[in-house]
Amino acid sequence: MSASDLPSAMAALVCRDDGTLVVERVPVPELGRGDALVRISHCGICGTDLHHVAGRIGHGPVVLGHEYSGVVVAVGEDVEGWTPGDRVVGGPGLGCGACPPCLAGTPHLCRVEPVRGGAGNGSWATFRRVDAGQLFRVPDGLDLRTAALAETLAIALRAVRRGGARPGDRALVTGAGSIGMLAVAVLADLGAGVTVSEPSAVRRERALRIGAQEAWEPGATAVPDGPYAVVVECSGRVDVMEQAVGSLARGGTMVLVGIGAGARPAFDARQLTLTETTVTGSVDYSRAEFAEAIALLASGRLPVEELLEPDDVSLDEVAAVVPRLTRGEIAGKVLVAPGAGLR
Ligand SMILES: [Zn+2]
Ligand SMILES: [Zn+2]
Repeated sequence: MSASDLPSAMAALVCRDDGTLVVERVPVPELGRGDALVRISHCGICGTDLHHVAGRIGHGPVVLGHEYSGVVVAVGEDVEGWTPGDRVVGGPGLGCGACPPCLAGTPHLCRVEPVRGGAGNGSWATFRRVDAGQLFRVPDGLDLRTAALAETLAIALRAVRRGGARPGDRALVTGAGSIGMLAVAVLADLGAGVTVSEPSAVRRERALRIGAQEAWEPGATAVPDGPYAVVVECSGRVDVMEQAVGSLARGGTMVLVGIGAGARPAFDARQLTLTETTVTGSVDYSRAEFAEAIALLASGRLPVEELLEPDDVSLDEVAAVVPRLTRGEIAGKVLVAPGAGLR
């Protein structure tokens, strides 16, 4: 399809100010220098999207969806290396390219330029525009549906790495939403023994199928007894963070991934000091980690059929599935297929 064959309007799922989701006809994005237009095959529904829909992140009407795979249908001026028909997934924002985090290969930490391509740029739509520099090629043999997991998997890979997890370690994952579930898969693939703490029964059961050795229902205590070398904290809850730190082995690390807006856990400084405990954060991913996520999906080592819900949803079915995801009734990643899904 050449640029002149493209339609002028497309279907997009617009999240209004009040969180209502409505399918609308909107203009197909116009390409600037360096841009590519991608026909969306699949796009995940993520916790950040749920916060938008719940009105906890308000930016006016917006098309959500950032965990996408698709096919390039047109490229703007000055784009090299990409042609229509290329199968792609979208990676991290590009950053300024000159500050210390950018030079270290972590442009997601750049604060010089607004990072492009984050939440809100809109893949719950037939097409999306993206800076071609953000694209990664989907290798032959990896289907676009599975490739849509790359973004969430890259987040989990970085979090596990920042925790320093090694084969044979005991690891705890608190909160088995989609990032927690992928952290379980990454840790199990690494050869760590994984315990999960998660209130939803369907998610606990799924975590066991994905490779967790035990799944704990938080009751009087949120966290089962350790000691754990690594905690990957995905719940965002203050009580969980505080208890999880106490379950770490000496020299252990807790990685905060669940953002928990306004969460201010209280840690005992003496205990942290005497046990050489590390508490750190992890957000998004580097370009290298995004490439690793694609390679890990292509390797076939992860239980993709357990990580993805079997039934994709169309744009007009998203509104009905959001409350079920918010209540923890769905264990796997739900994918939106704006068309019928591409190959
Ligand atoms: Zn996401
Ligand atoms: Zn920068």
